[in-house]
Amino acid sequence: MTDVLVVGGGPAGLALAAELARRGLSVRVVAPHPPQPFAPTYGAWLDELPAWAQVCTAQVWSDVRVYTGPQPTPLMRPYALLDNARLLAALLERAGDTLRWTRGKVTGAELRGALWHVRGEAGEDWTARLVVDASGHGGLLLPTPFEGGAALQTAYGIVAHFKRPPSAPGAMVWMDYRAAHPNPAAVRAEPTFLYAMHLGGDRYFVQETSLIARPAPSQEVLKARLHARLEALGTPPHGTKSDEWVAFPMNAPAPTPGPVLAFGAAAGLVHPISGFQVAGALNDAPCVAQAVASAFERGQDAAAAGWAALWPPERRAARQVHLLDLGALLELPGDRLGDFFAAFFRLPAAQWHAFLAPHTGVRELARSMLRVFAHAPNAVRVPLVRAALAHPAVSLRALREAACGTAAHLKERSASSHPAPAAARHPGGMTKSDATGREANSGDVDQQEVIEEGMQGAVGNVNADGLAPDVDREEKLEELRENMAEVSGQPQ
Ligand SMILES: Cc1cc2nc3c(=O)[nH]c(=O)nc-3n(C[C@H](O)[C@H](O)[C@H](O)COP(=O)(O)OP(=O)(O)OC[C@H]3O[C@@H](n4cnc5c(N)ncnc54)[C@H](O)[C@@H]3O)c2cc1C
Repeated sequence: MTDVLVVGGGPAGLALAAELARRGLSVRVVAPHPPQPFAPTYGAWLDELPAWAQVCTAQVWSDVRVYTGPQPTPLMRPYALLDNARLLAALLERAGDTLRWTRGKVTGAELRGALWHVRGEAGEDWTARLVVDASGHGGLLLPTPFEGGAALQTAYGIVAHFKRPPSAPGAMVWMDYRAAHPNPAAVRAEPTFLYAMHLGGDRYFVQETSLIARPAPSQEVLKARLHARLEALGTPPHGTKSDEWVAFPMNAPAPTPGPVLAFGAAAGLVHPISGFQVAGALNDAPCVAQAVASAFERGQDAAAAGWAALWPPERRAARQVHLLDLGALLELPGDRLGDFFAAFFRLPAAQWHAFLAPHTGVRELARSMLRVFAHAPNAVRVPLVRAALAHPAVSLRALREAACGTAAHLKERSASSHPAPAAARHPGGMTKSDATGREANSGDVDQQEVIEEGMQGAVGNVNADGLAPDVDREEKLEELRENMAEVSGQPQ
């Protein structure tokens, strides 16, 4: 008797299968291929990989940068290229001998009594107590409903030798928005950036990437643009070793739990802003497997337990905020994406790390976005406001959470700082915390100021032409301002 049948042998399916097997469950993975190293070039923040996976890296860069303008912004966060063969071997080792891998293509599944019957393309009928759909983007047994159609991340990359470095030697360039090669109208319509890794010697991985678009640029467009970029840089490749086409949806909603459990990209786990998923799946797998194993033990609904562990309410709420932000990015004129990320990477490190992490709650996301809003030019603010106004319930909740966090923080601060101890005062009458509390990168401080600053930007300087024609801009912004005043307890 198979306890769990996992459809798909990608990193997510195998990670969950391994954790289930480690908990003594009998597990069958069904995939059209034998165990084989995952094909895509996977990157991840080193600190987001579980400890056991940190050794499954082909290379780690400490010089990691973005270019949102002429000068690089150092990210000060090590980034890893995964060694897919080692990752596969580590996952199989973690699974142990009991994991069964069956080659086949699943076409459907049906629950009869307490047992699932999973159909294979060649007429197979596998039975199991629980089925997990880990078949990748879009889902097989639990198709993903992409609102408004799938918004895709697409990219075209090559590994090649270069006579002159196409990007900074020794570095990993996470995003390079400098672009002399396409004309401004093309950038505006289809923004792309360079993602590049120096692989050692004269070898580089260079990839022309469209972060998110609907419709997305085609492979031909990205390939032509990459080569035009390299030509413009005076560094055409010689000896191209391999190439890669990337295309996957970014706008999956939180799934509706059902009798089939899903995991990985099929469970909507791709991060809607970064497109990352692999490290998150490796981290989520033990907790979901534990929930499933415990449910089996107690005779409870294992699928429901798995769903509850994977998509708790807070994560669902956070997804709505991320989708709202994604909507804003889709609206943003292409030539303004660099400005957005310039403001984004001015966030305190902990804040942008959290924004890109899989489990960050609404409060933190909202506070980060307000801060980005405060520091971004108006051309970036307008789409953010429009996205917020298009989803008033989500934005209101986010603002409320941000303001609650701020109120709690201010309360805490006032409780600890009044009366200020005389010894802590400088001659000029300013306490040390007064003096340092308003630094742009000081993390948790002055969120109220950030919120107010952001709202002033929204009500004062936005370009009305940027708003949808059927929106009464003044009325909507007034509404938002009133709500802000109400939740923050501040007079207008
Ligand atoms: C080229 C590329 C590069 C990416 N780079 C990154 C990155 O750097 N970092 C990152 O975090 N994410 C990245 N992603 C996004 C995402 O993390 C990956 O797509 C990841 O592979 C998803 O993992 P998964 O296991 O959920 O699905 P997949 O890796 O897609 O695995 C799905 C599995 O299901 C099997 N399957 C499909 N249909 C059936 C069926 N009918 N029956 C049985 N088996 C089936 C497939 O054969 C496969 O084994 C990238 C995506 C792509 C496409």
